[in-house]
Amino acid sequence: MKIIIHGGFFSESDQSHDVKIAKQNSLKEIAKTSYEFLKNHSAEETVVHAVKLLEDDLLYNAGMGSQIQSDGKIRMSASLMNGKTQKFSGVINIENVKNPIEVAQVLMKEDDRVLGGTGAKKYATENDFEDFSTEIPQRRKEYEAKLNTGGKGTVGCVALDREGRLAAATSTGGKGFELVGRISDSATVAGNFANEYCAVSCTGVGEDIVSNATAAKIVIRVTDGFSLNDAIEKTFTELKEIDGFAGAIAIDKNGNIAHQDSHPTMVFASYDGTDFEVFT
Ligand code: ASP
Repeated sequence: MKIIIHGGFFSESDQSHDVKIAKQNSLKEIAKTSYEFLKNHSAEETVVHAVKLLEDDLLYNAGMGSQIQSDGKIRMSASLMNGKTQKFSGVINIENVKNPIEVAQVLMKEDDRVLGGTGAKKYATENDFEDFSTEIPQRRKEYEAKLNTGGKGTVGCVALDREGRLAAATSTGGKGFELVGRISDSATVAGNFANEYCAVSCTGVGEDIVSNATAAKIVIRVTDGFSLNDAIEKTFTELKEIDGFAGAIAIDKNGNIAHQDSHPTMVFASYDGTDFEVFT
């Protein structure tokens, strides 16, 4: 059993010592709590659990604390992939729900598993998700000051459970100031992908991640026989060739873990019950 979570990149407004310490503590706590949860739950249930905790933490750009788009509204995206069943579900640009990842989880049982915009919100309401604003005063202040932090702070989790099943989940408030209708990578297979060999969650500039097909590419390389390290390294070499800005966490079926980032300010934590690593 093993778990890795990430909290995206630091944004320029986050660089203070206090925010770094707060993120370290939060990641440590959430990785530990989620590992405890993993002991009695599947990888799919656990990645949702971890991402929900990250969405609820105001430090990150997902759920509470999401970025505001160019028209002053918050629209969030989240996805879930079960490596064992090879099923992907997600919501794109959903408004006014507390935990987009939980809507993705409920969608997993449907034939139509990725919903966008008003359809995603309608589905959430029909499934008892209350209307909830995830706006926090700091984001509104940044929006009003036209301070574009470029997003950053997307969250994600990949996990391997006791039965050897893998899963990945990712959630984001987007880039901030994006055009209405822009699609984030976080609810696509470029930003979040898993199969029985490997699971990956990404963060960074969605357009770069989609252009590089980052998560799906790493997973397919591992499936085709690359080691996890070689798969992630080759994929990031290609990402850098297009000047991409991204980071990824990955885990394979043997419990190997890896991470890469094109810029060294990605924050993440891994835990396997004994060894604990936090990178900030
Ligand atoms: N990948 C997210 C997006 O482009 C943003 C981020 O990870 O910071 O929507």
